[in-house]
Amino acid sequence: MRYLRTFIVLCSMIAISHGFAQATGSGEVAEKNIPIQVTEVAPGLYFQYHHQESNNAWLVTSDGVLVIDARQHPQRAEELLAAIRKTTDQPIRWVINTHAHGDHYFGNSVFKREGAIFIAHQDTLGMMQQHFDSEMNRRQGYFRQMKLDPSLVKLVLPDISFDRSLTLNLGGRVVELLYLGPGQNPGDTFVRFPKEKVIFAGGPFSKASWPNPSFTPSITKWVEILRSIAVMDIDIYLGGHGDIGIKEDVIKEAKMLEDFDYEIRSAYAKGMSREEMVRELKFSAYRDIRNYYRMNLFISSYYHLLKTGKPENAYP
Ligand SMILES: [Zn+2]
Repeated sequence: MRYLRTFIVLCSMIAISHGFAQATGSGEVAEKNIPIQVTEVAPGLYFQYHHQESNNAWLVTSDGVLVIDARQHPQRAEELLAAIRKTTDQPIRWVINTHAHGDHYFGNSVFKREGAIFIAHQDTLGMMQQHFDSEMNRRQGYFRQMKLDPSLVKLVLPDISFDRSLTLNLGGRVVELLYLGPGQNPGDTFVRFPKEKVIFAGGPFSKASWPNPSFTPSITKWVEILRSIAVMDIDIYLGGHGDIGIKEDVIKEAKMLEDFDYEIRSAYAKGMSREEMVRELKFSAYRDIRNYYRMNLFISSYYHLLKTGKPENAYP
């Protein structure tokens, strides 16, 4: 971690938990004041950790700036742009949307105005086209709570989509976009910086946090993907949510999802109902992990997947 250099960006808004519309457990209280942090994880490669909302990264090159993800509202994207401007005057040339959740692309219009070219996996493009309205609907509580005008959110689609992988050479820096199959979401894109040994892992990885499993078509596949990125020649793992991670954090998440998968599959095979599972499966070993308070919802979503073969939430 020798490159790490952290700037604390004072968070002017009243910080609220990511699960704004949910009841919060005791573990959610102390973390509300975690400030936004910008860290230079490798020369010219910055990571913005926004605990209450979603994360971003940007790479400054002599050809311009590449940004990963675009926040949840144009106003939040303006704040991201201001943070980028503290590190460089270079033009914003490229934006990668790692997956089609609104908290990662609803701010696209700001970077479109800056002249950026947008890149995403073809399934992310499909999800944006089909599910923009439902994404908007499920984020109305956030907009209200943050006093952000939803009508300012415009659908800006990727200009370039890819299938398996795409390698960019920008001002002498190499950036690899990888699709390893659906993890948390169809279209999940990993952005690897091979020389810097850093990867931005978007939806599938968030350090020390229960990820929402209601979008995945297969937890087994998701675990496989996490294990495959854990053995890559990478030192720093950046999630779409959560703080900076290392290999051990990725392996911990894989193990947690594996246990979740095993327990629920076993209960399902025994004929337990959704209600019985929600009542009896506690996953107590993981009760200190962020978002544990949403466990009932997670169990219920996975039951739905096992019963119907389809994720509870949107699928392309
Ligand atoms: Zn997200």
